[in-house]
Amino acid sequence: MVKLKWGLVGGGEGSQIGPAHRLGAQADGLFTLTAGALDHDADRGRAFAQDLGIASDRAYGDWAEMLAAESAREDRVDLVTVATPNATHFEITKAFLQAGFHVLCEKPMTMTVAEAEEIVQTVAETGKICAVNYCYSAYPLVREMRRMVTDGEIGKVRLVVTNFSHGHHADAADADNPRLRWRYDPAMAGVSGQFADCGIHALHMAGFICNDQVTALQADFASTVASRTLEDDAMVNFRMQGGTVGRLWTSSVALGRQHGFDIQVFGETGGLRWASEQPNQVLYTPLNGRTQIIEKGEGGLSDEAARLSRVPIAHPEGFPLAVANIYVDLAASIRGQPHGALPTAEDGLRSIAAIHQAVISARDDGAWVDARPPSLRGQ
Ligand code: NAD
Repeated sequence: MVKLKWGLVGGGEGSQIGPAHRLGAQADGLFTLTAGALDHDADRGRAFAQDLGIASDRAYGDWAEMLAAESAREDRVDLVTVATPNATHFEITKAFLQAGFHVLCEKPMTMTVAEAEEIVQTVAETGKICAVNYCYSAYPLVREMRRMVTDGEIGKVRLVVTNFSHGHHADAADADNPRLRWRYDPAMAGVSGQFADCGIHALHMAGFICNDQVTALQADFASTVASRTLEDDAMVNFRMQGGTVGRLWTSSVALGRQHGFDIQVFGETGGLRWASEQPNQVLYTPLNGRTQIIEKGEGGLSDEAARLSRVPIAHPEGFPLAVANIYVDLAASIRGQPHGALPTAEDGLRSIAAIHQAVISARDDGAWVDARPPSLRGQ
C-alpha cells in the first residue's frame, strides 16, 4: 500500500500535543511526515522539521508558505494536521480545505460559532474531510460503551456524569508562564478557557457514548486564579435530545487529579464507568447485579472494540509506546548519542540462566540455586 503523505502545522519542538500527533500518525506506517510548518518561529520550525526527517524544501517557515508550495506540487500532502493554538485553527483549516486538502484539526475547532459554521459549509462545498481530534473517543472500551448503550444493554440512559479535571494549572505563581497564559487569554483561546480546553472532550464523549446530542445546558464558570480572565473551573449541567440528564465538571486547578477524565453512564437497567487512568477497563453494573469488569482485548467484545484493541490482552494501553521507547534509545545508541538504559544481551543471558536454574530448583523440590550464568558468577 502506498503511504499517505502527511503535513503538520504547529506541534513544534516542546509542544504538548505535537509528539502525540507524530507518534499517532506514523504508528501504523499509513502516513509519512512529509511537510511541516511546525513553529511560530520560522527558523525553529524549519530546523525541527528537518530534524524530524522532512526534506528541506518541505520544511516551511509558516503555514501560508506551506499552503502555497504544497498546492503547487503534484505530490502534495494528503492530510494536514492543524496543531497550533486555538486562535489560528479557523484560518489555517479553512485555507487548506479550500485548497483541496483533507484536514485533522485540533480542538476547539474554531473560536466562534460563525467560524465553525463556515468550516462546516466549506466541507460541504469542497467535499474534503475535516476531522476534529476528539481522540478519547477512539479508545477501544469507549467504543464498547457506545455499542452497549446503542444496543440497549443498559436500557434508556437516565444520567451521564463526567469529569475532566486536573491540577496542572493550579500554581498561581506560574500563571504568567507563556505556555499557560494563552489558554486563559480571550485573544488566544477564545471565549472559554478550561471548558473549551478539556470540558469539550467530556461533552463530546457524553454525546458520543449515548449516540445523542446535547440540546440545552446551564453553566457556572469560575476563575479561581485571580489573574485569569477566562475560567479555570466550570460546572455544566446539560440535557440531551433523548432526555438524558448530564453533569460535567472540568477544572485545571484540581490538585491531585492527574489524567482526570472519567465518565459514568447510568441507564434504567445498568451503569457503565470508564476512566482515562484505567483505560483498559469498563466497569459494568447491571440492575440488581454485581459489578463486572470488561477488559480491553478480551473475547466477546464488539467488532469495533476488538478492531481498536491494538495490542492483545495482557498488554495494556500505552504498551506500543514502551516498545517505541526502546527504538528511541536504540537509534540514539546506533548514532553514538546519549540514551537511556537499553535491555542488553547480558540481561538476556541473566534471564535465560535464571529460567534454567528455576527448572533445576523446581525439579529439586524448590532448593535454592545460583540464578546467575556461570560467566557472571564472579561479579
Ligand atoms: P503548545 O503551546 O504546547 O504548542 C503549540 C505549538 O504550535 C508550538 O510548537 C508553537 O510554536 C506552534 N505554533 C504556534 N503558532 C503557530 C503558527 N501560526 N504556525 C505554526 N506553528 C505555530 O500548545 P499545545 O498544548 O500543543 O496545543 C495546541 C493545540 O492542540 C491547541 O488547540 C490545544 O487545544 C490542542 N490540544 C489538544 C489535545 C487533545 O487531547 N486533543 C491535547 C493537548 C492540546
